[in-house]
Amino acid sequence: MKTEDLNNINIAIVGGGYAGVTAALALSQIGANVTVYEQAHATGEVGAGIGLRPASIKLFRKLGIFDDIAAVTSPSKAFDIVDAQGNPITTEEWPQKDGDENTTRMIHRRDFIDALTKNLPEGMLQLDHKLIDLKDNGNSATLTFANGNEVTADLVVGADGIRSKVREIFGHYEPVPAFAHAYRVVLDGSEAQGLLTDDNLRLYLDSETGNMIYFLPLRHRGPNGQVSFDITVLSDDTSWSPQVTREEILHAIRNFDERLIRMVENMDLDKVNFRSAFDIDPVETWNSDSIVLIGDAAHAMLHHQGQGANSAVIDGGALADALRNADSLTSALANFVAERKEPTQALQRISRESWNQESASTSAFPEKDQISY
Ligand SMILES: Cc1cc2nc3c(=O)[nH]c(=O)nc-3n(C[C@H](O)[C@H](O)[C@H](O)COP(=O)(O)OP(=O)(O)OC[C@H]3O[C@@H](n4cnc5c(N)ncnc54)[C@H](O)[C@@H]3O)c2cc1C
Repeated sequence: MKTEDLNNINIAIVGGGYAGVTAALALSQIGANVTVYEQAHATGEVGAGIGLRPASIKLFRKLGIFDDIAAVTSPSKAFDIVDAQGNPITTEEWPQKDGDENTTRMIHRRDFIDALTKNLPEGMLQLDHKLIDLKDNGNSATLTFANGNEVTADLVVGADGIRSKVREIFGHYEPVPAFAHAYRVVLDGSEAQGLLTDDNLRLYLDSETGNMIYFLPLRHRGPNGQVSFDITVLSDDTSWSPQVTREEILHAIRNFDERLIRMVENMDLDKVNFRSAFDIDPVETWNSDSIVLIGDAAHAMLHHQGQGANSAVIDGGALADALRNADSLTSALANFVAERKEPTQALQRISRESWNQESASTSAFPEKDQISY
């Protein structure tokens, strides 16, 4: 689109998570008038780590925020999959994109959202705006918020996560339970029982129970470094925030390396985030002429390939590129959906398969033929 058209377009982004804030940065840099409406009183994130992949790092360079990201990350070499006792199953170096300057980097979720939001122009992020109603007027859309504000925009970007309100306009997609719990906590390196030795992501897989521990190093954090510790346990309980005792966790991880068991014996349960794992079925329609979905709202996936947040930020960059390169908003949205739907729905499918002894022995990156890192 021409610069003057972009300068005249008003974009309302619903959701100030990774997708919404990255989209806001990218869209404002091409000249659009952007406001992000976030329901929370303050931006916040639970304690856990994420591996930022090369395509995300490349985008952050393009957006001019690489240094802020680099300052709160550690570069990582490989993904190690080991059995419950730590014996190697598969080790693979992270797939690269354009050489190794954009290598995978480990980040804490809180640092990630802070690095993104601090780069937003003043006033672009409007907190305390919970979307409660959305009307598609054809070439515009009208948003109504719980605080009574009403806004009409040329384009509404639904970046409001797995339980998206915006998505309701395209159909009924309830979160689908994976019959697994995720217990996540960030521990100081001194509590890691000597296991925090490098920057590789390690997945411990117990083939007998199907339970897993993701051990994600954050060695740049604090004097001893930190580790993001994510225990994934199969369970019939699908409550959003399950109530679990230490004894139940210890029973679930009884086959694991005794150092991991000791970490659980010692950890402060008040600091643990207890969640059931959910994704959504593939969403058929992602856009109208004035509304489009991005991030988890469009394609929430399970965490096993570590691609949810990465896909969310790539969507934000791809949406801005689509607007820049097309001659109208309608074709820009069509091009965006054509580019992003197939790879993200492939990731949804692959992530649903989770890990077992056979898949873990085959490749650490079963998705690598389906996406461009
Ligand atoms: C256990 C676990 C581990 C994970 N590990 C990884 C990993 O290692 N790597 C990875 O890439 N991904 C990982 N993910 C996935 C990742 O967290 C998500 O894919 C990512 O957060 C999606 O970003 P988003 O911005 O689309 O949605 P969200 O982060 O959910 O943000 C949505 C925002 O919209 C706001 N919102 C919602 N409704 C409204 C409303 N009505 N009005 C206004 N605002 C609203 C919310 O408050 C929120 O701020 C993991 C997920 C889980 C559960």
